[in-house]
Amino acid sequence: MELRKFGPTGRDIAIAGQGTWNLERADRALAIATLRRGLDLGMKHIDTAEMYGAGAAEELVAEAISGRRDEVFLVSKVLPENASRAGTLAACERSLARLKTDRLDCYLLHWRGRYQLTDTISAFDELKRAGKILSWGVSNFDIGDLEETLAIAGEGQIACNQVLYHLQQRAVEHDVIPWCEKHRVAVTAYSPFGSGRFPAAGSKGGRVLGEIADELRGTPRQVALAFLTRRDSVFAIPKASRLAHVEENAGAGTLRLSQADLTRIDEAFPRGSRRRELPMS
Ligand code: NAP
Repeated sequence: MELRKFGPTGRDIAIAGQGTWNLERADRALAIATLRRGLDLGMKHIDTAEMYGAGAAEELVAEAISGRRDEVFLVSKVLPENASRAGTLAACERSLARLKTDRLDCYLLHWRGRYQLTDTISAFDELKRAGKILSWGVSNFDIGDLEETLAIAGEGQIACNQVLYHLQQRAVEHDVIPWCEKHRVAVTAYSPFGSGRFPAAGSKGGRVLGEIADELRGTPRQVALAFLTRRDSVFAIPKASRLAHVEENAGAGTLRLSQADLTRIDEAFPRGSRRRELPMS
């Protein structure tokens, strides 16, 4: 599994990690076994949030990482409605309790809400000083929000921006990824398989993925993950609740696409024009 520096954190993180949205809806024992298998295969970045299953996903993650906490890069998120200064501090304590850990590797604001960013960032700073979070970042932030965050926090403080990024939704390539690269902010691609809407094998794009996969002895999903993480700044967090799925996804960590492969994928899934608002679904 290829590792890369995660933004300014100095941590070497696998290019493919593991999402947990709706994981609590799957067979519990299988979901836990899947997360653990992912860890075995090097997918150490686990992404969760207080929102997922109203805390149930964090509780499930706690079971999966029991006895293995130190190997995991653990990320959780505060909901915007809780992101006042005091609310963020309290939300983090609740997440730590559900996750049965004393620290998060990274804590994110899930999306921009009504509270002032200065309040949320002040809470992040306090949590960092207390060792309860090792870094912090944002999610679903467009350029304007990123600029505002940078103006408050300064360079080297924003660990990542977690954004929607898959083959059929490449809006972040226009401005967000270049901005993050300029300011050394990691980009985490969420819903890398389109949240269950992966291109069908018989579709035009699906056929291109299939052909490249055959040439590389990989699978279309591995090709998709390799494409999304082709730039050093980008990490992907596919969610899987079956062993075969996580095993397949981990295989993306060693797949190498040629320039010709990248061009074919780019043509099959055009980036599209700039969007006024950053898409979230
Ligand atoms: P996703 O990872 O794009 O897709 C998940 C779907 O793909 C599931 O149905 C899963 O099935 C299936 N899948 C995974 N690996 C597969 C494989 N190898 N073969 C066939 N099917 C496979 O969707 P997502 O859950 O929306 O996004 C990933 C993570 O990003 C989330 O879990 C969450 O942690 C994060 N996220 C963040 C935000 C945000 O606002 N920050 C928003 C959405 C998501 P099985 O479950 O059956 O394995």
